Amino acid sequence: MLLRLPGLIDPHVHLREPGATHKEDWQSGTSAALAGGVTLVLAMPNTQPPITDTDTLNLVLQAARRKALCDYAQYLGATPENVHLAPGLASRVAGLKMYLDHTYGPLRLADMMTWMGHLAHWPAEVPLAVHAEGRTLAAVILLASFYSRPVHLCHVSRREEIVIIRAAKERGLKVTCEVTPHHLFLSEEDIPAIGQGRAEVRPVLASPVDRQALWDNLEVIDCFATDHAPHTLAEKDGPTPPPGFPGLETALPLLLTAVSEGRLTLDDIVQRYYVNPQRIFRLPSQPETWVEVDAEAAWEIQGANLLTRAGWTPFEGWRVRGRIVRVVVRGTEAFRDGKVLVSPGFGRNVREELA
Ligand SMILES: [Zn+2]
Repeated sequence: MLLRLPGLIDPHVHLREPGATHKEDWQSGTSAALAGGVTLVLAMPNTQPPITDTDTLNLVLQAARRKALCDYAQYLGATPENVHLAPGLASRVAGLKMYLDHTYGPLRLADMMTWMGHLAHWPAEVPLAVHAEGRTLAAVILLASFYSRPVHLCHVSRREEIVIIRAAKERGLKVTCEVTPHHLFLSEEDIPAIGQGRAEVRPVLASPVDRQALWDNLEVIDCFATDHAPHTLAEKDGPTPPPGFPGLETALPLLLTAVSEGRLTLDDIVQRYYVNPQRIFRLPSQPETWVEVDAEAAWEIQGANLLTRAGWTPFEGWRVRGRIVRVVVRGTEAFRDGKVLVSPGFGRNVREELA
């Protein structure tokens, strides 16, 4: 049975260009997006150099314009130095990203005065996404409430976090959140099977109790986001494995498998992987854009067959149900039967389109 879904929107991907194109670049990363039924990606700013000012934004957008195969927008990274400069770039970016806890790259903000500066100055109508875990998450929800501004909480992974988010929403605070497929489908019990180095990811894979809490609070989860964070196998299997999983090509099949098992509905997917990201991140609709899925097709995930340059997956060998057959973007057939059919540069910057 062929199903037609809207073009999916992934609000959290790392495309590694500029600076680490051996892991991924705008072309390979957006190929992986199309192969996963994703037609619009929001790219994170922790590249080398990080995207924090006009020059670095121009640099990344040049690469994107040349190479992107699906539509996109680029995040700006918050630093202690760009509190006053950042709002001038707000109309050109997906949103502002604040790294408040340790992760891959140099953008962590240690000082709560800097958090408050950005929360106060970044325009309230432009998305502000934060990496904040545990107590940090509680702290940033409190600080954002001082300015009554919306804040989007990235990759929620633990019971205490989703419970705090539920409580914040019940009190009318303007918080939204996303959860990754790997935190929905994996836990620390899977680490031995994945391998210690390969299983490195931030936030870390949590306990089965944490994972179950995400499922039990599904109505509190606004978005599914892959946090696609590719590193090569040599890096993951080396002495200092960097954190991150590729995820763009496995997300929809995993979610469709959960539908076939009765754990999710198709509407749960459409709401969290299209409707809510479009609303929260104020994205334009992509006309004549859809994904055709064979919901019955059973297949086995194999890293070697993926289009991401990472070439591996933490879901190696998983049997899934649901294959992406065809992706149409703005009236053009962009992907069919495993092959990308559009040329580099086909993807549009949805923020420049609006400007
Ligand atoms: Zn990330």
